[in-house]
Amino acid sequence: MAKNGVVIDLTSMKNGNGTGIRIASDGSYADVGGQQFWIDVLNATLGLGLTPVSWTDYLYLTVGGTLSNAGISGQTFQYGPQISNVYEIDVITGTADFVTCSPNNNSDLFYAALGGLGQFGIITRAKIPLEPAPKRVKWVRMLYTDFSDFTRDQELLISKNGRNDNKALNYLEGSLLLDQGSLDNWRSSFFQPQDQPKIISLITKFRIVYCLEIVKHYDGQTKTTVDKDLQQLLKGLSYLPGFMFEKDAKYEEFLNRVHSEELKLKAKGLWDVPHPWLNLFIPKSKISDFNDGVFKSIVLQRNITTGPVLVYPMNRKKWDDRMSAVIPDEEIFYTVGLLQSSGFDDWRTFEDQNKEILQFCEKAGIKVKQYLPRYTTKEGWVNHFGSKWSTFQKRKLQFDPKLLLSPGQRIFNNNE
Ligand SMILES: Cc1cc2nc3c(=O)[nH]c(=O)nc-3n(C[C@H](O)[C@H](O)[C@H](O)COP(=O)(O)OP(=O)(O)OC[C@H]3O[C@@H](n4cnc5c(N)ncnc54)[C@H](O)[C@@H]3O)c2cc1C
Repeated sequence: MAKNGVVIDLTSMKNGNGTGIRIASDGSYADVGGQQFWIDVLNATLGLGLTPVSWTDYLYLTVGGTLSNAGISGQTFQYGPQISNVYEIDVITGTADFVTCSPNNNSDLFYAALGGLGQFGIITRAKIPLEPAPKRVKWVRMLYTDFSDFTRDQELLISKNGRNDNKALNYLEGSLLLDQGSLDNWRSSFFQPQDQPKIISLITKFRIVYCLEIVKHYDGQTKTTVDKDLQQLLKGLSYLPGFMFEKDAKYEEFLNRVHSEELKLKAKGLWDVPHPWLNLFIPKSKISDFNDGVFKSIVLQRNITTGPVLVYPMNRKKWDDRMSAVIPDEEIFYTVGLLQSSGFDDWRTFEDQNKEILQFCEKAGIKVKQYLPRYTTKEGWVNHFGSKWSTFQKRKLQFDPKLLLSPGQRIFNNNE
């Protein structure tokens, strides 16, 4: 995990040395130790009827860990990633300084550490804004066989993205349904048994079906209007008639949806297996080329993809360009996540597919950015950071000149 180095067990800070989860008396924010899991933040804040607003799909990840990447999910189109929802952080730098930073105070370190892949310091505390929590959600999936209908509808829905717009959705994602033996995967089971045969025959006929997934929050006050608001939002969309499916769930049940699947997989010994994932950000102008060249060609031809394949758009204006996280230049860009599980013997075939996808993008002039990036050469990293590289490098010299932190990312230590 860290050749010739150390692994810092941040969860040990739970035993009294670190920040726990403290909620401000006016309920406007939570002060959270970097080692805390998001599920614990959710449970602590819900106890007071409050909640953070931007999430990841899976909640058994640490606050410091997701803030070192970006933290994305279906709320990102509206609230931005988790790194756009932090007031202040404490960081222990590579020079052993303990620094509190925010946009107004030691801002260089604040922007460096958010999305900084652990290069500048260890995030030990974050001040996270809170809002009143909804009680329940309407959770809807709609199916498409035409990719341009699917993306047009996604883009239309994320164009309503005002933070306090009651008429906007609260979550939007999308995924591919492929012939993988079962409609359910670890991200969540959703479809009722009686609906499955017609969905499966649609997949058999078209080989790829696109699934748009949305959520609208509600509580006691909006209980009577939520259905009407939702109908209004979905009016005029081009999903296949008869292929809209709806669920009603508790807010926390929805947010923690991956965990119940995790438990099922763990029981079968299928959770702790290799995960040769590929996560990309793709400019909107090229998403259709990506569909043709990757989903309809490479993925179908190789026919090995197991696990969820996510596809959904976000708004660039909800990100802060001063932070280290890297995204495409266009106002709307898509995230595609091929979240595959493999066996211990065959993971290389998945890595080969990932390589083929990246090579295709390069040849086709699709300027993708990797999310949770992995490069093995300096050139790869310099290309990845693009215009941010010189600032990234300068900040590394300033905050971790001995290159002590997170060498495993192989950004500055790639000759070892
Ligand atoms: C099952 C699963 C589902 C996921 N789903 C999503 C998702 O929906 N959305 C999303 O955005 N991401 C997702 N991720 C990716 C996730 O954001 C990253 O893997 C993140 O690093 C996880 O945090 P962790 O606590 O597990 O970090 P670890 O795996 O413990 O650490 C990974 C690296 O992050 C850095 N790091 C960790 N903690 C700190 C800290 N406190 N300060 C500085 N650097 C630190 C270090 O470089 C460390 O080596 C998922 C990951 C998994 C395993």
